[in-house]
Amino acid sequence: MASAHVQNEPILTYAPGSPERAALESELVRQAAEVVNIPVIVNGERIGGGERLPVTCPHDHHHLIANVQQASTENVQAAIQSHRENQLEWSNWPLEERAAVFLRAADLLSGPWRHKLNAATMLGQSKTVYQAEIDSACELIDFLRWNVQFARELQELQPISAAGARNALEYRPLEGFVYAVTPFNFTAIGGNLACAPALMGNSVLWKPAATAALSNYYVLQLLEAAGLPPGVINFVPGDAKTVSSVALGSTSFAGLHFTGSTAVFDNLWRSVSEQLPNYRSYPRLVGETGGKDFVLAHASADADALSTALLRGACEYQGQKCSAASRAYVPASLWPRVKARLLDDLSTLKMGDVRDLSNFMGAVIDQRAYERINGYIDTARRSGEASILAGGQCDARKGYFVSPTVIEVRDPRFVTMQEEIFGPVLSVYVYRDEEWPEILKLVDETSPYGLTGAVFATDRAAINEASAGLRFAAGNFYVNDKPTGAVVGQQPFGGGRRSGTNDKAGSILNLLRWVSPRTVKETYVPATDYRYPHMKG
Ligand code: NAD
Repeated sequence: MASAHVQNEPILTYAPGSPERAALESELVRQAAEVVNIPVIVNGERIGGGERLPVTCPHDHHHLIANVQQASTENVQAAIQSHRENQLEWSNWPLEERAAVFLRAADLLSGPWRHKLNAATMLGQSKTVYQAEIDSACELIDFLRWNVQFARELQELQPISAAGARNALEYRPLEGFVYAVTPFNFTAIGGNLACAPALMGNSVLWKPAATAALSNYYVLQLLEAAGLPPGVINFVPGDAKTVSSVALGSTSFAGLHFTGSTAVFDNLWRSVSEQLPNYRSYPRLVGETGGKDFVLAHASADADALSTALLRGACEYQGQKCSAASRAYVPASLWPRVKARLLDDLSTLKMGDVRDLSNFMGAVIDQRAYERINGYIDTARRSGEASILAGGQCDARKGYFVSPTVIEVRDPRFVTMQEEIFGPVLSVYVYRDEEWPEILKLVDETSPYGLTGAVFATDRAAINEASAGLRFAAGNFYVNDKPTGAVVGQQPFGGGRRSGTNDKAGSILNLLRWVSPRTVKETYVPATDYRYPHMKG
């Protein structure tokens, strides 16, 4: 899958005095002072005037930054009609012409658009500058560039041609539109779920998450600036159920590109199955969903590396990554050192408004998330099976702040070890060193998910045992590293079990789902006699 000439976008540091810091800060001031009206966009046309939803900063929920138009049933129907009209022309563009749009978008984002996207992601989704930089700048640029590379490689996959004939695989798009339903937590995922099918010649109906609508609207404008023709990606923010019911109710629905929670993906899948006979083709269903990602330490692990990975893995972006470390298994012999270091580091960690660049954490995304996380912390507080070692404070007066929380559980199947919390909450189970073989089975069986996981050990035999014993427990498996931070082109991302269809975003495997290949055979000199030689008398 590797390519010689695509490089990952370098991560800028935003250190004091750097030019990127000055440019970002002035863009933050500009965006913080305006209220953007985010329209529905169909066929390039801005549609406003209907019901609107306010978008506020999670770290300052009195601060209005946008109003997002809610697509009506008619808007979604118009978008689907526009796909019918536009898809043929777009899909007939040669791959290199389509690719040029996305490569230009990548270059614009690497240059003049970088700070717009980062500032919108910081203000709208409460990401610190580093978390925004690795998402809305670097990862999105990487998706755009690497997918072009993968699409080229896909076209190279051709059958052999025997003497007297020519065989070819033509990578057609799906016959219909792709419905991209995207999550709040990564601007890059929003962009990629829409752009990957579009690159392959599909037209896309993009429904962003309301809480990420501001950054996602900037992505759409970036694509327009890069020359994406109107109607290839229609932008339909709005009530998820209304938009989905029109999209999935259309005979032209050809594929779902989803990232979000398992429960929502289940609902969408169910709705598709119920309407299956109505569709022109069997739709492609691609969904990357929840996780309950583990960190398993062996007695030979480096205590400092482990505690750093736990802190970064569990707390970065307030634990709102599908890959976030959220359950840890640490041997009793190692725990006192790891605990001391972890609690010590946590006591220095700063949380607050992401415009203050000295902060390590911002707020969680909205009130619903805040209450859900608070509920899990409360359950732990009231249970005899768990103790809160750090954090546990929640304060929503200004923003939705949840302090990074470490829970030590006595029951390894305590609810916070099993369910996705999607907040800065790490549960730790301390096991007796000699229980190592059984602990592998426990890690494997404790949660229904299979997204990411990490083992920490310096003993090579232990690494091998964990890798074999946890083969199906994670689609992205890390050795001596935190389970977050997959990089496009380096660690194709996705998991199995209840974590999704594991179609590996940012790889050729994902692009394969957005094509319906046609095999063409041309015979140069066709037969003119139906009789075979064995029939001759
Ligand atoms: P979510 O499921 O609440 O929302 C995802 C999208 O689905 C949004 O656009 C939302 O508006 C839409 N939606 C919500 N209800 C719907 C309904 N009834 N019908 C149709 N669409 C509906 O998820 P979220 O809070 O945005 O994101 C967090 C979740 O995403 C977590 O579970 C996380 O693990 C998962 N996630 C997974 C990956 C991965 O690669 N596996 C990556 C990022 C996030």
